[in-house]
Amino acid sequence: MCLTTNHGKSTHVVVLPQPLRNVVLKLAHNHSGHFGAGTTRAIINVHFTWPSLYSDVREYVKRCKTCQQFSKASPARAPLSEPELICQRFEKLAVDVVGPLDKSRQGYRYILTALDLAKKKFFCHANAWLLSRRDSS
Ligand SMILES: [Zn+2]
Repeated sequence: MCLTTNHGKSTHVVVLPQPLRNVVLKLAHNHSGHFGAGTTRAIINVHFTWPSLYSDVREYVKRCKTCQQFSKASPARAPLSEPELICQRFEKLAVDVVGPLDKSRQGYRYILTALDLAKKKFFCHANAWLLSRRDSS
């Protein structure tokens, strides 16, 4: 028996002998919902303690196959790329073709759109830039 203090309250806990520690670790971790090291340690510490409790729990949780398999840790992400700085007007354009559309009176079915990435807006009106491919059909 050992006297410990938990949240300001003194309690007696059993100093667990070596042969029983893995059984208690398994019960406290595997059968209590695979909590993290802190919660598993708190569950054990209600009734038991031993000198290497902290490191034993940390290692047990770290090696738990179930926790490794279903970890909520997000997969490694690619680092954020630095945004390209575009200052000059017309330095970089985003160009796209919209269509095929219903044929206009002039026989056009496509609209060329262009976006000035420095200004983040269309630098031309779509009607003024109606550079479409004539469709012979
Ligand atoms: Zn686990």
